[in-house]
Amino acid sequence: MYPDIKLLINGQWRDGNGTAIPVLNPATGGTLATVAHAGRADLDAAIAAAQDGFRLWRDVAAHERCRILRKAATLIRQRAPEIATLMTLEQGKPLAEAQAETLAAGDLIEWFAEEGKRTYGRLIPSRSREVTQMVVREPVGVVAAFTPWNFPINQAVRKVSAALASGCSVILKGPEETPASCAELIRAYVDAGVPAGVVNLVFGNPADISSYLIAHPTVRKVTFTGSTEVGKLLAAQAGQHMKRVTMELGGHAPAIVFDDADVERAAKLLAAAKFRNAGQVCVSPTRFLVQDASYDRFVEVFVQEAGKIRVGNGLDEGTTMGPLANPRRVAAMERLVADAVAKGATVAIGGKRLHGPGNFFEPTVLVDVPADAAILHEEPFGPVAPIVRFQDFDEVVKEANRLPFGLAAYAYTSSARIAGDLTAALECGMLSINHHGLALPEVPFGGVKDSGYGSEGGAEAMEPYLNTKFVTQLRV
Ligand code: NAD
Repeated sequence: MYPDIKLLINGQWRDGNGTAIPVLNPATGGTLATVAHAGRADLDAAIAAAQDGFRLWRDVAAHERCRILRKAATLIRQRAPEIATLMTLEQGKPLAEAQAETLAAGDLIEWFAEEGKRTYGRLIPSRSREVTQMVVREPVGVVAAFTPWNFPINQAVRKVSAALASGCSVILKGPEETPASCAELIRAYVDAGVPAGVVNLVFGNPADISSYLIAHPTVRKVTFTGSTEVGKLLAAQAGQHMKRVTMELGGHAPAIVFDDADVERAAKLLAAAKFRNAGQVCVSPTRFLVQDASYDRFVEVFVQEAGKIRVGNGLDEGTTMGPLANPRRVAAMERLVADAVAKGATVAIGGKRLHGPGNFFEPTVLVDVPADAAILHEEPFGPVAPIVRFQDFDEVVKEANRLPFGLAAYAYTSSARIAGDLTAALECGMLSINHHGLALPEVPFGGVKDSGYGSEGGAEAMEPYLNTKFVTQLRV
């Protein structure tokens, strides 16, 4: 059911020069299959293929690229049930979430396909009737893309689709821990007619692959999704070689609930958002800041919602939260909870790993969390929710902006005045007020400060894959 995963280089699915790595099922701890491991010769072959692929693909008309990409969208939708099962097996999320992620890929591919038809240049009025001043947009070239395990398809589809729609070729280093669904995404592009070499997929040692690809003169653009720590490392390498970068990094999203909000509704929506994908989401609400008079009621409803979550194997009907994707995250949750409790926080629900096979951790709520608790400083990336009290607007804005991160932020208020003031005051790339409306294909997706730069949604998402060429011509 779960196949051994191969590399895709120059249109051929093949083994790598390195020793294949096991892929584990996070719900059982069992081995599912293996994933091929690329060696230096494989990377050289991928680079050569991508270079040839770029020469060919940049000259394919935008309308034709769009037609092929739209076919890939159709294929991935048709194959969603099988692909979602692979994703749940390797990543752990409930089948319904895996299905939603796979179908969303169809929407993202389609949106980028259409946007590729609108990479307009412009004419600039000149100072002489004899001169024409033109701005032309051109694809940047070969793209090296690096994507993580929390959304095996969603993280990859944004990068690959924007690159292909712009006329670039791609070498994607997919997630070794969750390779099958990502490989199926790439198969959809190939089966739709993206020519050999235009899209390539490798797996292996992340640091070896990234250092080699980023330094290689053929690669002109680097895009990474993952932790801030690794993002800074890759951005520094890219800087040394003057490569353009897009960095989608960590966050620690404040979720601010004011006394004038519908507190019960806020608690229900925020709990659903927090525990989605077991909290392993870069835009997950993670610092719950609740105004004094509403604090107790918010905690009561939030804890009730956490108590309703059914933790289990994502393939089982009725499961609403699966295991964490790897044992590292379980160890991190244990450390964060123990640290908070030692410093004075109270566990309102959960707090422990579930014994037995698999990386299961209880949906956990921490209350009265002191300011020095590690969980209020580092991104939890798991199902632990710290809830903190605040008194007034200035205090909560200071707390929200305190960390170096600036990805998502959430707020609940019925006051237009507060919503407007927050819009101006919060240091973040995305702000969702009174609902959860982030990550649609047509809206910008990205962060500021240590959360990275560049956007992976909306019209802005094409920009990183295009160069600007200025041409001025005198009539003779
Ligand atoms: P990690 O920091 O080692 O890895 C994060 C991702 O970066 C993984 O996909 C990994 O394969 C990749 N990576 C690591 N070193 C790399 C390198 N030198 N070159 C290229 N890619 C490299 O840690 P992890 O245990 O996998 O995840 C831990 C933290 O990473 C999480 O707590 C979270 O903060 C962050 N993370 C963020 C996202 C996101 O969507 N922004 C996704 C996954 C992980």
